[in-house]
Amino acid sequence: MKTAVFIEPGKMSVQDLPKAQVKQPTDAVLKIVRACVCGSDLWWYRGISKRQANSPVGHEAIGIVESVGSAVTNVKPGDFVIAPFTHGCGHCAACLAGFDGDCMNKTDDEIVGYQGEYLRFKNANWALVKIPGQPADYTDAQLNDLLTLSDVMATGYHAATSAEVKAGDTVVVMGDGAVGLCGVIAAKLLGATRIIAMSRHADRQALAKEFGATDIIAERGDEAVQKVGELTAGAGADAVLECVGTELSVDTAIKVGRPGAVVGRVGVPQKTEMNTNNLFWRNIGLRGGIASVTTDDRQVLLDAVLKGEIHPGKVFTQRFELDEIQAAYEAMGQRRAIKSLLVISE
Ligand SMILES: [Zn+2]
Ligand SMILES: [Zn+2]
Repeated sequence: MKTAVFIEPGKMSVQDLPKAQVKQPTDAVLKIVRACVCGSDLWWYRGISKRQANSPVGHEAIGIVESVGSAVTNVKPGDFVIAPFTHGCGHCAACLAGFDGDCMNKTDDEIVGYQGEYLRFKNANWALVKIPGQPADYTDAQLNDLLTLSDVMATGYHAATSAEVKAGDTVVVMGDGAVGLCGVIAAKLLGATRIIAMSRHADRQALAKEFGATDIIAERGDEAVQKVGELTAGAGADAVLECVGTELSVDTAIKVGRPGAVVGRVGVPQKTEMNTNNLFWRNIGLRGGIASVTTDDRQVLLDAVLKGEIHPGKVFTQRFELDEIQAAYEAMGQRRAIKSLLVISE
C-alpha cells in the first residue's frame, strides 16, 4: 500500500509499505477515502520537533472499514467512518468522563499513517465514529466537512467548551489556522453573539467572517489587548479560545479576558513552564488540552455537519493526491493553503 512518509525536514515521500493488518482483537483496518495535513505536522516538517526518518505520517482521515478484529462489534466491513486522531478505549475513567483524548489505556504502538491507502486503527469498537451511508451519498463539500471531524473541528469545539462559551457571550479567538477558524464556528454554534478573531492574513480573515466572526484584530501582544478593550468598552471578553500555543498567544489570551473569564487552550504549549500567578489577580480560569474527538463528534458535531449547520470543510483551500504529498506539505508550510486536503480514494 502507498503511504506518506517523512524523510527529513522539508522532504516528504510516498513509499510502498506492507498493507495494514488487524493485530489486536480491538483493531480495524480502514481503506482511507480522504486525509489531510495538520498544522501540527508542520512542527517536524519544519524540523522544529524531531521525527524518525522514513516514518509514516498523518492523524486525520475518513474511510471505509475493510476488516475488523474479533472484539469489534459496533462497526463492520463496509461501514463509512471518521477516524479520530484520538482513539480512546471508551471504558477508562477519562473516556467515561468525556475526555477520550486523554484515554488512560494508551499504549506505545502509536497509530500512524492516516495519510496513506490503508490504516490500522486501535480501539475501533468505541473510537471510530460511524457516518450514515457511503461516500458516494455525499457532496465533495460534505466529505470535507466530515473529514474535519477527525481533528480540527473537534479541537476548535474543545477550545470553545473548555472556555465555557455560552449564549450571548463575547468571545476572542486566538489563532487563524484551521483550528482557530473552527473555533469561530464552535463559538457561534454555542451561541456567542460577538466573536473577535485575531488574524493578519486576508484569506483567513475572510473565512473567519464567513464562519461568524463579527470583528477582526490584526495586531498582536499589548496592541491586541488594547484593541479588544476598545471593542468591549474596556470590559474584555467573556471567553477566550487559545488555538496557537506560543507564549505570546497564551499571555495575550489571559489579558483579553474580563475578570472571571475562562481561557480554553488547545494550542500545544511551546514553552515548558508558565507563570500562572497572573491568573489569580483577575480570577481567570485556564483549562483545555487534547480534544475529545469521539465524544464531541457523537454528541454534537456529526449531527451539525449532517444537518448542514456548520461547514468546517471550507478550511481546505487546496487539494492534492497522495503522490503529490510534497506539494501538499509545501503549500501549508509556505502558508499558501490554510489546510491541504488529500484525496486518496473514491
Ligand atoms: Zn491534527
Ligand atoms: Zn480510555
